[in-house]
Order: sequence, then structure tokens, then C-alpha cells
Amino acid sequence: VKRVRTTDILIVGAGAIGSFTALNLAREGHKVTVIDRKVPGIEASGANAGSLGVQNKPFELGALAAESVDLWRDFELDTGSEAGYHRLGGFRVAETEDGVDRLRDLAPKFRSIGVNVEHIDGDEARRRAPYLSESVLAANFCDIDGHNNSLKAVPLVARAATSAGATIISGVEARSFQKTGDTFVVTTSDGEIMCDRLVITAGVWSRDILRDAGIHLPVALRNNQMMVTEPAPDFLNYIVFHIDGHLTIKQVHPALSCLIGGGWPGTGDFRAHQREVSYRSAIGNAALAIRVVPELANLRVLRSWSGFDWRTTDQMPVVGQIPNFPGLFICTSCYGGYTISPALARGLAKAVTTGLLSEQISQFSPEATVLRHEQHSEESHSVTT
Ligand SMILES: Cc1cc2nc3c(=O)[nH]c(=O)nc-3n(C[C@H](O)[C@H](O)[C@H](O)COP(=O)(O)OP(=O)(O)OC[C@H]3O[C@@H](n4cnc5c(N)ncnc54)[C@H](O)[C@@H]3O)c2cc1C
Repeated sequence: VKRVRTTDILIVGAGAIGSFTALNLAREGHKVTVIDRKVPGIEASGANAGSLGVQNKPFELGALAAESVDLWRDFELDTGSEAGYHRLGGFRVAETEDGVDRLRDLAPKFRSIGVNVEHIDGDEARRRAPYLSESVLAANFCDIDGHNNSLKAVPLVARAATSAGATIISGVEARSFQKTGDTFVVTTSDGEIMCDRLVITAGVWSRDILRDAGIHLPVALRNNQMMVTEPAPDFLNYIVFHIDGHLTIKQVHPALSCLIGGGWPGTGDFRAHQREVSYRSAIGNAALAIRVVPELANLRVLRSWSGFDWRTTDQMPVVGQIPNFPGLFICTSCYGGYTISPALARGLAKAVTTGLLSEQISQFSPEATVLRHEQHSEESHSVTT
């Protein structure tokens, strides 16, 4: 006998975005069910560096990042969950004159949206953080940069959603969906689920689910990798980012190991679901980390891993209802998708219940995304001809 379940709102994928969306909807009293092929927080949302930085995001995402770090903090305060949130403050460093110029320009821009970012020279940065090397010419300091423990956080968000009334079902995969009248019928690995509103937050796998419905989003697959060192003396009291991208360093408590990442590409086979580490990337990442924080050279790396992530080519999220598909909603990852997940989820939950997007989120609607990409490709075309 085929199993048939019904719910008002079905969310496919219990990563950070799906789990926070479920928490928001359940708290508002909606009947919401989440299915995950595996378990909450097992993919990108549990493989990431746990960086909850604000100043390291593209400026367009700065306000959402600032809102989100408060939401991450409040999640722990409201629920009593211990997801390891630490608001240490962070340095974003530059090692070139060009990088210094970009940092100098960014500080007042962030201050204009209420994020306190201070531009300081290399000597002042080393006075405050003596472990930074002489290669650091200048830095921006942001007092609300921080991190949490990504191994613990999303399972805790999912647990809070369950306590608020959501039903979360692990080990059930969405395979396809159809719309009959106003009802979606989702075929899963464990029967069918009927719902009025369908929310796809299945990370990179959302592409496949939507493609089967004839919906193509301009997104690209990424595979990022990370490494963690053995425990070290307690020395790194701030998070460290790099203006030229590929570096994040933090020391986590209570383990005292150092987490090193920044978006170096891993390898593997997406279709076979193999996530592997690129030694070339590991060496490049370690060399850059040691150049900026030389004491890291004394530590052994214990483990390295990678995870699948996806973003639009301009690294912005896509949030909202799919045009011409009433009741079908999506939220993709973006640059810093873990940091920004609570604000994206809040915007998505509002869209699901009211059909409206907040002003801040509406620039990332599916319609706005397609328009932006068309304009972008026209602009790049005119540059090359
Ligand atoms: C190594 C690495 C480091 C990173 N570091 C940071 C960082 O420090 N800070 C930061 O802000 N961001 C970071 N990111 C990015 C961030 O992790 C992602 O943007 C974010 O976690 C994406 O969340 P998500 O909920 O969209 O997707 P995911 O976490 O991938 O969740 C998708 C979920 O959907 C489920 N699913 C998939 N298909 C189906 C299906 N058909 N049926 C049912 N369930 C399904 C999966 O099992 C999974 O649980 C990093 C990413 C990686 C990989």
C-alpha cells in the first residue's frame, strides 16, 4: 500500500536554510513538514567553517549578514541551545597596496549600513593581534564577526523546529513533484506527500529537483575544502579573513584547534556523491595561512574535508516564489550561505505565508536574479566586442 501523507507546507532539505525556515513557520503556528534524504545539517551546513563574519561578505549582502549574526546569537539565547556562538571580532587583512585600497574603501561603506568596520594599519593590527605577520600591510576590524560550531548548530535548529511543532523526517528523499489543481504531490522514497506549498531548500540538489520541473536557475556547483589542526596554546583571539579571498582562520573553544579554510576547491564526483580533498588546495591554503599567521606552522593538521555548495554566478542568493508556479518556493545558497541562512529563512518564511518579500530580500527574487544575469551577460558581451 502506497503511503500518503499530507501537510500544508512541505520543505525539502533540512540544511541551515530549510531548518531555520521550518523553525520560523512552526513558531507562527503553520503545519510544516520537512524531509531530508539524510539528516539535518549533514551536507554543506555541517561541513562548513562555521564562520559568521559580516565584513567578509560582498557588500550587497552586508545588511543581511549583520541581521543574521544577531539571529544566530538570539537563536541560542531563545532556545538555550549551545551551538558554540562566539562574537570575537575579526580582522580582514591585506598584503598588497591594492588590497589596502579596497579595505580602505569598504570601511565607510559598511559603517553607512550600521556595521562598525575600522580601518587600521599593519602595525596597529599587530599591536592588537601580535600573531599577524609583517606581510599584513593593513586590516579592517569588525566587532560583530564571529563563528559557531557548524557540526552542532543545524541539528539544534532542527530540534528547536520540532519543539515548535514542525515534523522533521530524516532518511526520506524527494524524487519528483507534480501539481494537480492547487495541490502539490511530491513523490518520495517513502510514498507521496501532498501539500499546498512546496519549498525547495535542498542545497545543490535543488537544481535537479527544479530541472525536472523545467525550471533552470543560473547556478554553479562548488566544492570547498577545510582543514583543522591539533589543539594549540590559546593564542588566536580573533577570526582572520583575507581581502583577496581564500583564507579564514579561527581557533575554536574548548578544543583549541585551529580551523583553516577560505574556499579552496576540493575534488570528488558530485554524481557519485564523493567529496575529496585536493592536496594542491590543502598546500595552497596552509601556505597562505602560515604567511599571515606564522605560528600555525608549528601545528599538525589532523583532518581535512570538503563539501558541496552552490551559488549563482554572482554569488547572490535566489529567494522566493518561482514565477508562474504559485505555491513553489526556493532559496539557494550564496556567498556565506551559512552565515546568512537565518535572514534568508526569515525572508523565505514570510514569502511562503504572505506571498511578499521584504525590500531587502526582493532584490534576490527569482525574477530579479534572471534580470540581473541577463544584464550582466549583456554588459560582459559589450565589453568583449
Ligand atoms: C567546506 C565549506 C566551508 C564553508 N564555509 C562557510 C563559512 O564558514 N561560513 C558561511 O557562511 N558559509 C560557508 N560555506 C557555505 C555554506 O555552508 C552553505 O552556503 C550553506 O550551508 C548552504 O545551506 P543549505 O541549507 O542551502 O544547503 P545544505 O546544507 O547542503 O542542505 C541541503 C539539504 O538537503 C538535503 N537534500 C538534498 N536533496 C534532497 C532530496 N532530493 N530530498 C530530501 N532532502 C534532500 C540534503 O541531505 C541536505 O541536508 C561553506 C561551505 C563549504 C562546503
